[in-house]
Amino acid sequence: MENFFNFDDLHELYDVVIIGAGPAGLTAGIYAARDNLKTLILEKNYPGGQVAITEIIENYPGFPDGISGGDLTDQMYKHALHFGVQVKNGECCGVEFDGDIKILSLKHSELKIKTKALIIAAGARPKHLEIPGEANFLGRGISFCATCDGAFYRGKTVAVIGGGDSAVEEAHYLTRFAEKVYIVHRRDKFRAAKILQDRVFSNPKIEVIWNAQLIKVNGDTKVESLTIQDKITGNQYDLKIDGIFVFIGWVADTEHFKGLLNMDESGFIVADESTKTNVPGIFVAGDVRTKELRQVVTAVADGAMAAKAAEKYIEEHFSSGE
Ligand code: NAP
Repeated sequence: MENFFNFDDLHELYDVVIIGAGPAGLTAGIYAARDNLKTLILEKNYPGGQVAITEIIENYPGFPDGISGGDLTDQMYKHALHFGVQVKNGECCGVEFDGDIKILSLKHSELKIKTKALIIAAGARPKHLEIPGEANFLGRGISFCATCDGAFYRGKTVAVIGGGDSAVEEAHYLTRFAEKVYIVHRRDKFRAAKILQDRVFSNPKIEVIWNAQLIKVNGDTKVESLTIQDKITGNQYDLKIDGIFVFIGWVADTEHFKGLLNMDESGFIVADESTKTNVPGIFVAGDVRTKELRQVVTAVADGAMAAKAAEKYIEEHFSSGE
């Protein structure tokens, strides 16, 4: 991915700028570029987004044996480049307007990027536990990515927090390395897909701790235990573990658009399948929008929809040229 600081052409007017190079953003790019729209994707980290660090995706149609998230998004990235999408490293930190033209400010740069339509596909980031002790061990015993950090726990004991697809799937994955994996969940039922649940219930290395209220993370220089309160009995105890993997959902990365775009209480930008926001010419695709099902397949569907909606908007608002 190229660094935008090296490029003069950012002074030009784009048809479509897309924020985020995950599956939604890359798909929007492919569709927009194939419609002959001058298209730029801005990505603040690396192409592929959260999916790029997912070990295996088993429910993306066309891959009956599963495909690694990295391989899938790498193909999407190449696909976007193939059709002429520019993908550059940069973080949008605000939008201003000159009539119908949107002017994007960038973090750590004086550059402004002008575009007729904007598609926000910025994804979401993992929620933190927000309990005492967590902040001391972020990145040093508390992780949000099993693919990235699982191998550090070979032969050790870890706790996975959560009861959704991510927690259950990643707990199973972690048994490749860890000797023992506790899944610590706040209720007495998982919300994860049944097939994933069956897999963990039959895995002898996994033990589920139900009805667990997390109290604090303990340790001196490294994580040593997790204090848990049993919600039924009220008993409090320390679970000895070497590391904690947190999979308790996601928050949207949308601070820069507060006050401009309508959002729900968790910061997800309000839009339906049309991907239209409350501001004409700004569209939202993928995990960052309000939706029922956050999956790669729903993200790519949004990306296609947003690009088509952007094209229609440009045609209606800029039909006499730029
Ligand atoms: P999720 O479905 O939102 O599940 C979050 C889990 O964390 C829930 O079990 C929730 O408990 C628990 N939780 C939330 N806040 C908590 C807190 N403060 N303390 C303790 N526990 C807390 O998140 P996800 O599992 O990351 O999944 C997100 C989306 O991605 C879903 O749509 C999911 O289907 C999708 N996904 C799909 C796959 C796949 O298909 N292979 C894999 C991963 C993710 P409650 O159940 O009590 O609310």
